Amino acid sequence: MVAMTATETKIDIDRTFSTDDLRWQAVVERDVNADGAFYYSVSTTGVYCRPCCAARLARRENVAFHNTSAEAEQAGFRSCKRCRPSKVTQFAIGDCSFGAILVAATDKGVCAILLDDDLDALVRDLHDRFPKAQLIDGDEDFEKTVANVVGFVEAPALSLDLPLDVRGTTFQQKVWAALREIPAGETASYGAVAKRIGSPKAVRAVAGACAANSIAVAIPCHRVVRNDGEISGYRWGVERKQALLEREATS
Ligand SMILES: [Zn+2]
Repeated sequence: MVAMTATETKIDIDRTFSTDDLRWQAVVERDVNADGAFYYSVSTTGVYCRPCCAARLARRENVAFHNTSAEAEQAGFRSCKRCRPSKVTQFAIGDCSFGAILVAATDKGVCAILLDDDLDALVRDLHDRFPKAQLIDGDEDFEKTVANVVGFVEAPALSLDLPLDVRGTTFQQKVWAALREIPAGETASYGAVAKRIGSPKAVRAVAGACAANSIAVAIPCHRVVRNDGEISGYRWGVERKQALLEREATS
């Protein structure tokens, strides 16, 4: 099974809810499939909502659309207390053979997989990476997501059957997309990745993008090694990188 990338998800959503008419239709139908694709605000109440909000339908002439909850807030609207559109990130901590693992997701997909044995450090790391996000403990449903991610981390040769919400600059996104093309059991040098994205001189910037990766294993920055093949630094510890590569080489 092929894991869907955030880019593909976005394109899919854009096609479906690309015009104000389609968006309004989704609001009228309280279409749950539109959740995360856009938000709507109501000028008479000063509140913004998810498309599927159960609140009484506003009049069309008072409604405006926003691509993100941040856009709606910048335009001066408050988050609806009923559908809680500002609920950005859920997260939970589980265990895997590499130690503790933190999994966080938005309504678009998994946005962070972090590895560390220090639980406080894991949560701090998440706060640092998503300073504006309202962090919410994952519910029972989310436990399934965590179990799914742990299963994947234990056997990375299988694709992660969950959408990712990949957040970064255009350059980082390019690097991370290239990393996802390196199959399990193989490695590439920073220079080779730089060439692959058409920026052969940007070796340092590629290393920087690898270090900035928030989604361990699913964006396999552990498969990037020095030009001489030696294992170099890893945000989550060189020993974990070594263990991941050894496991992939033998599976
Ligand atoms: Zn609402």
